[in-house]
Amino acid sequence: MFLRQMRQPVLDVKGVGRKTASALERLDIRTIGDLLVHYPRSYENRKDPVPLVEAHRQGYANTTVRVLSQEYFGWGRDRTLKVTVSDETDTASLVCFGRNFLERVLLPGKFFFLYGSFQMRYGELQSSSFDTEAATEEDSLPARESSKRFGRILPLYPLTTGLSQQHLRNAVGRILQGVVRSVEDEIPSTFREFYGFLPKNRALREIHFPETMQNMELARKSLIYEELFGLQLTVALRAERRKQEGGKAYQSEGNLCSAFFESLPFEPTADQKRVHQEIIEDALSPEPAARLLQGDVGSGKTLVALTGALHYIEAGGQAAFLAPTELLAKQHAERTRKSLEGLGVRTGFLSGSLPEHERHKIQQELQTGEIQLVIGTHALFSEQVHFKHLAFVIIDEQQRFGVLQRLKLTGKGYRPDTLLLTATPIPRTLTMTAFGDLRVSVIKTMPPGRKPVETHLAKIGNEQKVYDFVERELQAGHQAYFVYPLINKSDRMELKDAQQMHQRLAGEIFPDYRVELVHSRKTEEEKEKIMADFAKGDVDILVATSVVEVGVDVANATCMVVEHAERFGLSALHQLRGRVGRSGYQSFAFLVYHPDLTDAGKERLRVMKESNDGFVIAEKDLAIRGPGDLSGTRQSGFIRFTIAELVRDSEVLVQAKKDVETLMKKDPGLEQEDSAFLRRLMKEAPPFPEEPAGTA
Ligand code: ADP
Ligand code: MG
Repeated sequence: MFLRQMRQPVLDVKGVGRKTASALERLDIRTIGDLLVHYPRSYENRKDPVPLVEAHRQGYANTTVRVLSQEYFGWGRDRTLKVTVSDETDTASLVCFGRNFLERVLLPGKFFFLYGSFQMRYGELQSSSFDTEAATEEDSLPARESSKRFGRILPLYPLTTGLSQQHLRNAVGRILQGVVRSVEDEIPSTFREFYGFLPKNRALREIHFPETMQNMELARKSLIYEELFGLQLTVALRAERRKQEGGKAYQSEGNLCSAFFESLPFEPTADQKRVHQEIIEDALSPEPAARLLQGDVGSGKTLVALTGALHYIEAGGQAAFLAPTELLAKQHAERTRKSLEGLGVRTGFLSGSLPEHERHKIQQELQTGEIQLVIGTHALFSEQVHFKHLAFVIIDEQQRFGVLQRLKLTGKGYRPDTLLLTATPIPRTLTMTAFGDLRVSVIKTMPPGRKPVETHLAKIGNEQKVYDFVERELQAGHQAYFVYPLINKSDRMELKDAQQMHQRLAGEIFPDYRVELVHSRKTEEEKEKIMADFAKGDVDILVATSVVEVGVDVANATCMVVEHAERFGLSALHQLRGRVGRSGYQSFAFLVYHPDLTDAGKERLRVMKESNDGFVIAEKDLAIRGPGDLSGTRQSGFIRFTIAELVRDSEVLVQAKKDVETLMKKDPGLEQEDSAFLRRLMKEAPPFPEEPAGTA
């Protein structure tokens, strides 16, 4: 792809103005390239005819109709036009809510192209969501083909406020007419021809504006393969390069680690000990290592990461711990300082919200090497931060960080070892295939004495029982979380929100307890103060949005109440539930849901009730979403793919890996390769750590 054009701002597209551009930015779309990979989530097939008689079964019709009659129902402001139409197969009603002006358009006797969703209502076939366009003669195919909105397959894009399907269709259409001709193929032609995939420029056209649904399918397959091929190729090239570059081995007596282990009030689990050893092996080997540490929330990953860091510190290096939020960074920093001070290890905390002079001081101490372990937010990436000898980088909840940020931090050391912590479970076979030389450690067992969280489902309307139960826990001296999907009232949806519920919980339901509220619009200081008070036990109930999803650690909290649980994803619910059950006390999660729920929604809540195992939940999540779910592709959480999905497309992934191996055997430097794109990738592939290219 001609990178220069792909990186042009969307404003350069004709017809895209400032308003549209800022709406696009809300979808993370800034450049022409971003827009091109904003793939449709589904399609409206206005090409293959679906006559009215079929609409009973299909739920929609795509046909040409004649208007039979018009009538009105309702009074005053509710007066609504109803138009009766028919094609050769059946008769139906179009209900024109808010569109009474159609009285002058849909005139009896005239013909129209019609696309709409239909339902049986009051004994007739009805649509209130439809689109029409004047037809010249009955069902004239040539006329349909000259139409912009009919006789073709229209893409339906993920939208945001201020953006319509039409905006996106126009903008993408413009790009496809212009830039796309010069798009380069990323798959070598031998493989492309072997699989019968479309060339990239065709694939892009067919995924946005398919000529047929079969073409769309083929385009999808081509693009998925291309993306996974790109990933595998990057992994292979990096491995190749690593053979040539050296790293550094870090040796120590292990005194700091043992001292730290001895200072703990508990014994590390067998899994923790094993993973600790695995980290030490990385340190001892001269190659720069990247390791993924998977373990459910609360399994003790952070602890192992820190003991690993102590090994590097004793060996004379520095370690950096990158946390996904300010709140967590602060919490980790405080704990770490307390537990490592006694061992003579200097720790520091760095975040963008520190006052200038404090930040300055920390930066200086990092440069001189005085600070041995720094914990912080993405402020650790800033240009002014230099390390004396960065040896070990820990990245917590790594899916929250972008590719570039990770590269920036690891670029600061002498090829430091990296440890990625994640509670998002990914089957081992997949991580091995996807990341090639990424090493994987798993903590399976929870620290002893933990009792699995008991999960209960309650319909909205029955929440008093839940509140009564929580009150008993509070009386026993425990604490509780209450989580809501919104900060404050949305006028479009009837949802309980955190602000109002905070008032109700504090004023009416639990007047004898201290109830506080945190959410992302509070200042860092406010959040910190409240969290600190909650951790101390001064606050009994913490009302929150999903800001508490990650990492907050208060062992005395035994109740997690999530209201409108149907609005949260399975993995978010699992993370939220992980905030309780962090001690020997029996803990409880209450998922309060709106009874108006889809089957999939019910199934998801049932999974939460029945399983406490993150791996099981992740797999069920996938099964419920189903392999055909286009909208799921962007949320694979792990790597930001544009269209591929690691688990769903695992077979393609394995095939792509084999193909890359074949290619590299034949031509390790890709010198003979016919694709300019691949030759360039060879030069530009990011050195470390692992990230796919191919999504430029
Ligand atoms: P994770 O990072 O995997 O979510 P943490 O490392 O934060 O888990 O550990 C969760 C809690 O369990 C912490 O309070 C920690 O001190 C405690 N913990 C860790 N390992 C053990 C253990 N072996 N025995 C008892 N408690 C432990
Ligand atoms: Mg953690």
